[in-house]
Amino acid sequence: MEMDTIAMLKPDDIKALIGALSTAIAEHADELTALDSAIGDGDHGYNMKRGFEALAGEADALSAKPIGEALKAAGMKLVMTVGGASGPLFGTLLMTLGKEIGETPDRAAFNTAFRKAVDSVAARGKSEKGQKTMLDVLYPISDALDGGADGSGVIVAAEAAADATIPVVASRGRASFLGERSAGHMDPGSRSVALLAKTIADFMETRR
Ligand code: ADP
Ligand code: MG
Repeated sequence: MEMDTIAMLKPDDIKALIGALSTAIAEHADELTALDSAIGDGDHGYNMKRGFEALAGEADALSAKPIGEALKAAGMKLVMTVGGASGPLFGTLLMTLGKEIGETPDRAAFNTAFRKAVDSVAARGKSEKGQKTMLDVLYPISDALDGGADGSGVIVAAEAAADATIPVVASRGRASFLGERSAGHMDPGSRSVALLAKTIADFMETRR
């Protein structure tokens, strides 16, 4: 995957990508909710499904906007519809990415904007990598992009990073209330990020 092709996506491509993301989340909603039932309150899959269905419902309007504006609008929509802790965090990720990405980002510009977006999630969540949150996958994706990984490299990095949350004792988010008992389960937000990354990477592969 060449992430700079993101600047070349046509409105129809953006629509198709939003549809693919919404479908992937819907297909995995039960899995995400099961992960959240183990170490949280069991709403993560439904939260994400509700949010991505809302994005799909606005795919026409979103895809008509320049990439930065589309990302900002999508982020605001996720804040309003996902709810929970993860809604504002995914929303912040997309809003910052939209603010930083520029009109026709090349790969380096995308990677720089993505890093800033991940840092903005950490600031918003008062969290850092290693606490069994979505940051545990977002930072490895950013590192893989900076290291020049292609789509399959990003997928491998994201899935390995999600798996690596399993033994971690949570120190942020609802799972931290469980203390040591949070170990032995994958972080649901991390699984969502890996799933979204795989869906985007697979999609970009089809548009090369
Ligand atoms: P809630 O915890 O409010 O029920 P969700 O279930 O939708 O919200 O999302 C939970 C996910 O949000 C966690 O699995 C984790 O990845 C992420 N998360 C929670 N708190 C934080 C935080 N402070 N920083 C980063 N990510 C967080
Ligand atoms: Mg939850």
